Amino acid sequence: MSEKKSKVILTGDRPTGRLHVGHYVGSLRRRVELQDSGEYDKIFIMIADAQALTDNAENPEKVRQNIVEVALDYLSAGIDPAKSHILIQSQIPQLYELTDYYSNLVTVARLQRNPTVKNEIQMRNFEASIPVGFFTYPISQASDITAFKATTVPVGEDQEPMLEQTREIVRKFNSVYGETLVEPEIMLPESSACLRLPGTDGKAKMSKSLGNAIYLADEPEDVRKKVMSMFTDPDHLQVSDPGKVEGNPVFTYLDAFSRKEHFAQFCPDYADLDEMKDHYKRGGLGDVKVKKFLNDVLQSSFEPIRKRRHELEKDIPYIYEVLKKGTEAAREEAADTLMRVKKAMKIDYFNDNALIEEQMQRYGNK
Ligand code: ATP
Ligand code: MG
Repeated sequence: MSEKKSKVILTGDRPTGRLHVGHYVGSLRRRVELQDSGEYDKIFIMIADAQALTDNAENPEKVRQNIVEVALDYLSAGIDPAKSHILIQSQIPQLYELTDYYSNLVTVARLQRNPTVKNEIQMRNFEASIPVGFFTYPISQASDITAFKATTVPVGEDQEPMLEQTREIVRKFNSVYGETLVEPEIMLPESSACLRLPGTDGKAKMSKSLGNAIYLADEPEDVRKKVMSMFTDPDHLQVSDPGKVEGNPVFTYLDAFSRKEHFAQFCPDYADLDEMKDHYKRGGLGDVKVKKFLNDVLQSSFEPIRKRRHELEKDIPYIYEVLKKGTEAAREEAADTLMRVKKAMKIDYFNDNALIEEQMQRYGNK
């Protein structure tokens, strides 16, 4: 009888800031749905502090402070610690051991080709001074994914090269040492608007590091201000001018967040987003009206999350308790994988009776 393959999720975020609505549509919303679907045997959600330190080595305080912020964002968005383990990466030493062994299976040239790393090096102006740890973080990400035997990794588009790199490491490891590691699948957001949500400034990616984000924890007035000052179509000067919806972040956000019900509730002039877009393209629909609608949509979508956050903020020891329990469960899983890895590599000397016997025979021991 063949054993049913278990379904396991691993995802995570770097504690470099609070989570924003790009994280929400790119990954967090999906995680909550998958968690509540009951289809997964295990779910691990990782706060990647060690990875955050690869480009914040001089600023450990930022990373330390943001762990609790990210955890609060998770729980308020609906991650349930009874169903999902939330863990802190640096507290799982097995991950570092795996990274060390996997490093021998990856070439420098292959790492240099990773387009996300290339892009991030440019963004951070590292060029000639790339920290080794940053350069090799795709390998450590392969450890994170394989340590928990993840089958499914729900992430944004920028993570695609990381997943490909992980799959290569898995295949290489399994072909050299025998079938040991599980090959993961990426799960990208369904709608193209959510693959990489642009910033409020119209830049390609909403990012904590670029100051163009709307945060899950933003108060209503902050959200309103950010929405009302958003970049739109620069050629749409008069209400009567025809406008562009492609590359216009206000419409990309509406693609990501608005539902048909929102029109009935906040903007009954249009039955749905297509009708609103048609009017904008024809001319005669002003940016202010569209932005006001977007503000209503965002306020109603994120109000429950913000309210839950305010409740959770009242009991910080509980948050750390959740993190501790999740980390302990994760450590057990990672230890099991490391044990299998060392066995496959035949470096578990003290549990290897065949090896001891072989040496005894060689030296004529009785
Ligand atoms: P940093 O600037 O520190 O790298 P970040 O904003 O890129 O931060 P990460 O912690 O690197 O956030 O990414 C966490 C997850 O959120 C990943 O799955 C990533 O693909 C997804 N993600 C990040 N930004 C966006 C975005 N703008 N749109 C969709 N998904 C995103
Ligand atoms: Mg990132």
